[in-house]
Amino acid sequence: MKISWNDFVEQCHNCQACPLASTRKNVVIYRGSVVAPIMFIGEGPGANEDEQGLPFVGQAGQLLQLLLDAQGFQMKDYHIANVVKCRPPENRVPTEAEAAACKKLLGTQILIAKPKIIVLLGKTAYTLFTGDKSAKMTGIRGQIFEKNGYLIVPTFHPAYILRNNNERITLWNDIALVRRKAEELGLMDPLPDAPQMPTARPSGK
Ligand code: URA
Repeated sequence: MKISWNDFVEQCHNCQACPLASTRKNVVIYRGSVVAPIMFIGEGPGANEDEQGLPFVGQAGQLLQLLLDAQGFQMKDYHIANVVKCRPPENRVPTEAEAAACKKLLGTQILIAKPKIIVLLGKTAYTLFTGDKSAKMTGIRGQIFEKNGYLIVPTFHPAYILRNNNERITLWNDIALVRRKAEELGLMDPLPDAPQMPTARPSGK
C-alpha cells in the first residue's frame, strides 16, 4: 500500500509498538531530504536527538556532518534515520524486540525515501539488515553489497569514531567510497578538488 510522507509521519508520532514510546520526548524520524539518493541509518536517538526530534544532532551527528560537509554532500543528497525512532533509556543499544517493532516503519521510510545507496552506521543497523549478529564491523565495513535492489555500505558508527579518533580516516574513506559510487551512478556531481579530512573534534553535547 502506498502511503504519503505526512501519513507516515503521523503513524510514527502515534506509534506505541514498543515500551520506548512511554519514555520518549519526541519521535525522531529523519533529517535531510524526504526523497534522497543516499540514506544513512544509525542506531537510535540519544538525549539531544530526543530533545530536538532530529537524528544525529549530538556530538556523533556533528562529526558525521563535518565529514559529509567536507565531501560536499548537500541536504538534497541524503536522508538520515535510525533503526529505532525513540530514545532507548541511558542510550543503551535498542533490544531486538524494539528494533523489530520499529522495522516496519523503517521499511516504509525506505520505500518513500527511495535511496539507491544505504549506509549502515554501526553494528545495530548492519544486524537489522542482514540478520548477522556475529560479524565484526572491521571485517565488513567499506564494502558495497546489493540487497533487495539497494546498494548497502556498512561502516563505523560516528560515536565509535568519537572514542577512537584514529579510525576517523576509515569512516572518511568509507564516505568517499559512497561518494564515488554516487558519482558513478550519476547521483552526485564530482567535486572540483580532492577534499581534505577535517581533524576538528565536535565541541557540542
Ligand atoms: N546515534 C545514533 O545512532 N543515532 C542518532 O540519531 C544519534 C546518535
